[in-house]
Amino acid sequence: MQREPTSVLRNVFGFDQFRGQQAEIVDCVISGSDALVVMPTGAGKSLCYQLPSLCRHGVGVVVSPLIALMADQVTALNQLGVKAAYLNSTLDSYEQNSVLNDLVAGQLSLLYIAPERLLQQATLDTLTQAEIALFAIDEAHCVSSWGHDFRPDYLGLSKIGELFAGIPRIALTATADARTRADIQTNLALTQPRCFVDSFDRPNIHYQVATKSNPRQQLSAFLDSRRDQAGIVYCLSRKSVDATAEYLTTQGYNALPYHAGLDTHVRANHQTRFLREEAVIMVATIAFGMGIDKPDVRFVAHLDLPKSLEAYYQETGRAGRDGLPSQAWMIYGLQDVVRLSQMLGESAATEEHKRLEQEKLNALLGWCEVTSCRRAALVNHFDDQLAGRCSGCDVCDQPPDTWDGTVAAQKFLSCVVRTGQRFGAGHVIDVLRGAEKERIYQLGHEALPTYGIGRDTSELQWRSVVRQLIAQGFLYADAERYGALRLLPRCRPLLQGETQLSLRKEIAQPTKSSANRSRPSAPVELNSEDTQTYERLRQLRKQLAQEQGVPPYVIFHDAALREMAELRPFTEQELLGINGIGQAKLEKYGARFLAELRASPQAALD
Ligand code: ADP
Ligand code: ZN
Repeated sequence: MQREPTSVLRNVFGFDQFRGQQAEIVDCVISGSDALVVMPTGAGKSLCYQLPSLCRHGVGVVVSPLIALMADQVTALNQLGVKAAYLNSTLDSYEQNSVLNDLVAGQLSLLYIAPERLLQQATLDTLTQAEIALFAIDEAHCVSSWGHDFRPDYLGLSKIGELFAGIPRIALTATADARTRADIQTNLALTQPRCFVDSFDRPNIHYQVATKSNPRQQLSAFLDSRRDQAGIVYCLSRKSVDATAEYLTTQGYNALPYHAGLDTHVRANHQTRFLREEAVIMVATIAFGMGIDKPDVRFVAHLDLPKSLEAYYQETGRAGRDGLPSQAWMIYGLQDVVRLSQMLGESAATEEHKRLEQEKLNALLGWCEVTSCRRAALVNHFDDQLAGRCSGCDVCDQPPDTWDGTVAAQKFLSCVVRTGQRFGAGHVIDVLRGAEKERIYQLGHEALPTYGIGRDTSELQWRSVVRQLIAQGFLYADAERYGALRLLPRCRPLLQGETQLSLRKEIAQPTKSSANRSRPSAPVELNSEDTQTYERLRQLRKQLAQEQGVPPYVIFHDAALREMAELRPFTEQELLGINGIGQAKLEKYGARFLAELRASPQAALD
């Protein structure tokens, strides 16, 4: 077997070059040192342990909590000609024994295993009889009680270092913050690990945030040009998941619901269909997505606000793992803010925790309303800087106009004070606009000096003002009191006329044409002949995938098919030049794909 990293990269994985810090990480692990790797989703973490496992003697043991994904990961490796297996509770005892036998006999290059399984004495005993290349601890943030995915089993992994002294361990995660990183290092007891922290920018994701007006219509407009794409639509509640999935189905989309209220079998079935079929839209609560490593998710749409920028980053990070252009799209409105604040208020968490969560929500809101590059603001939140120009966000595409909102803000804030800081935005706007409503008369609010002073401004504009006042830390929607607006200290100089306030103009609802303008999200344009060829290659891939009962992307990624359609390799050597085609795939599929390419129209003209 080839053991030199670059030739393994080329021959097994079919890649010409390492990405980012992969080369250094791989060298570090091959040389026997521990490593801590923090890289965003899709950056290529798996290669950092898979490749060293092939270069070092023995088996690479990969600890992962995501049992449901192990089978697909192993299938993908087998497709590359790598001997891999997994051990978890889904195997019967006969299958388990066969894996253990292969392990001891030195037949495996990679073994995926759940933490609780690894830590069983019997497993540890078997492992001591095998030669081990390395331990990879995937989703390593699970060892930190600080994060949201804490798993007690992960704490037990610290003893691996003592039991298997001298064998390198590599911990990997996409979770950024410094505290989690420190926890990983301590709780896994890594030995002087080298830390590799990658940039948090996802250059192939285009970001867009719009105000929620008519969610269904907005979603339809967004999806219309994406009928052949797979994506995820996130909703806050189970009810809206069901309703949205049903609606999309009537619109001719292949949409499936996913939430914790559905039967386990239904959920598993929907997840499998999402992974194996093409152009499936998963409509889901946040119960869906952890560890989904489908490479060709082309969009992640949020119909409701997530809880924080961290959650948003993680959820949208599921788009575009294959590096092709993808879209993160979100609509949000004031009612989302109030609803989230309320949920927070009703939760059983401590005051301190609630305050923290409220701060996170505010940071997200501030980000929604940014008037400078959205991508830069996102990576800044993770203490990262953007190198170079933004490669696509709504603000850079179409910088919003601003207006002097000082007087409007003063009117609004005074009205909040006059009504006793006891009401939500809806009522305050009613008072400002002089609404003739029963509730106003009951409360005697028609007699207030602020009654009717905001008639010149539409309700929609007022809502935009309120969102920005909240986002900029002037107002706060009190969760304990059903979203009642309260003034924050920043208001004083504004009310006293000592500062000016610049607000962004509401950008017109994205119409079809503006939705198309922001279309770096649409896959790279192929000319019509290439598109035909691409479709034929996809058909072939689908057929091969069905024959073997595997997801299409484990055969070839979309990106590889695109490259084939464009470059039209004619020989096996040329086919090896396509990114993602190594020796094993050439042998398995080369002839079929070359034949299909030769039969395609342009080749005949050549
Ligand atoms: P992560 O685990 O960091 O989310 P993956 O390991 O799943 O990311 O890799 C994401 C995608 O990038 C995969 O499709 C993988 O094949 C591809 N990839 C990884 N390394 C390279 C490379 N050096 N060159 C080209 N593609 C790569
Ligand atoms: Zn930008």
